[in-house]
Amino acid sequence: MNTLTYAIITLATFVTMEMVTWLTHKYVMHGFLWVLHEDHHQPGYEGIFEKNDLFFIIFATPSILLFYFGIKPELNYLFL
Ligand SMILES: [Zn+2]
Repeated sequence: MNTLTYAIITLATFVTMEMVTWLTHKYVMHGFLWVLHEDHHQPGYEGIFEKNDLFFIIFATPSILLFYFGIKPELNYLFL
């Protein structure tokens, strides 16, 4: 592939992920998982963590698993 192809793929990935992020925030975090996200929009909560921090775990877990199984193709049989 040439440089232009890489640039187009990078730009398309960025735009797609921005759309996914916007949709996730609007319909998941402000939807059925509002109970976890609500404290993020309310200033003055107690403690250093908020329930919203659980989203880091929720969103990071599939990414970690995809990276892990992506670099260990011999383990892909687990998903077949
Ligand atoms: Zn929000």
